[in-house]
Amino acid sequence: GQCVSVCPVNALSGRNTQQPVLDALADPAKIVIAQTAPAVRTALGRDFGFEPGTLVTGKMVSALRQLGFDYVFDTDFAADLTIMEEGTELLQRLGKYLNGDEKVKIPMMTSCCPGWVSFVEQHFPELRENLSTAKSPQQMFGAIAKSYFAKILGIDRKNLVVVSIMPCLAKKYEASRPEFSVDGNPDVDISIYTRELARLIRYANIDFNELPDSDFDHPLGESTGAGIIFGTTGGVIEAACRTAYELFTKKVLHKVDFEELRGMEGIRSATIDFEGVPVKIGIAHGLGNARKLIEEVKNGTSPYHAIEVMACPGGCIGGGGQPFHRGRMEVLRKRATALYQEDVNKPLRKSHENPYIQKLYKEFLGEPCGPLAHKLLHTHYIDRKEIVGLYMQTDKRD
Ligand code: SF4
Repeated sequence: GQCVSVCPVNALSGRNTQQPVLDALADPAKIVIAQTAPAVRTALGRDFGFEPGTLVTGKMVSALRQLGFDYVFDTDFAADLTIMEEGTELLQRLGKYLNGDEKVKIPMMTSCCPGWVSFVEQHFPELRENLSTAKSPQQMFGAIAKSYFAKILGIDRKNLVVVSIMPCLAKKYEASRPEFSVDGNPDVDISIYTRELARLIRYANIDFNELPDSDFDHPLGESTGAGIIFGTTGGVIEAACRTAYELFTKKVLHKVDFEELRGMEGIRSATIDFEGVPVKIGIAHGLGNARKLIEEVKNGTSPYHAIEVMACPGGCIGGGGQPFHRGRMEVLRKRATALYQEDVNKPLRKSHENPYIQKLYKEFLGEPCGPLAHKLLHTHYIDRKEIVGLYMQTDKRD
């Protein structure tokens, strides 16, 4: 199988992660909320007999409600938020770079994949400042849920339990990083992956195939098409380009589909014209391909301003916690196609147009990359070269 995730601290050893979810749902003192990553909805159906790439978003939301979650939210909302922060950061770095600042770290590398972040920290720690400081969507969601949403509910963050449904095991490790907690209370309490959700649904004897469709709750459930394509290789940087282009040029972007950034080749590149400023982009999926791009950065020969890396083949659609695709490219292509289709179907396709994101900044966060945004939504990276051994974790339970 492809279910390989990188865990540098072997934090992925919990055998039954469904039990903590069931315990939280059974606790009357807790409000339990779910967030579902973009790639999950295009793969979960496979475990219930649907064709590869069938979107089961509405049934997934209904299933989570039946399991007892008080609110079902969408990591895609936080993906839009990530774009606000990461897109702004990219423009800040580019501005300095174009003004001749030699200290600014270019290319900026995406930071939403913990498998890739761990790889950089372990093997190329001298380049860790090239990583965007923006937290991943999973962690941005947790930080906003435990501050903004807990405040809306009028409850202490300790009584709010955030459960993530993610495509991989690396997200469990990410959620456990100590910097993603406040006074010992984690921003994301429990992170389970797609197959674990399928098991929970079967455990609860829910007839998934017969479930009606249900919508995500608000305010953390609304997303644009840009947030959805995060689940596939090239999607993060395409989403970032849609927003960065408009912020940079102050013009409306009419053609939002950056076809040149899509595809399944292991390494891809494209130059996007920001009205006279050519922004050079590199994309890799799979750590072997990523290594080629980062060696260029290390050698000072990288031609790029921005690089997107996802550790898994195809990006999160091919994550180690997803229903098995056994490396079959046609399955990954179908999952990617479903996400691009969902993007097209969305009335809003640029992250900065998400009205709930606009409201969040207006009422709570202030400016993108401003002081509160920095405190809640950005992080730092460490040199892990000293930690001996790289654990390649394979889940063999299924
Ligand atoms: Fe997890 Fe793989 Fe997605 Fe990275 S690419 S976040 S390791 S599923």
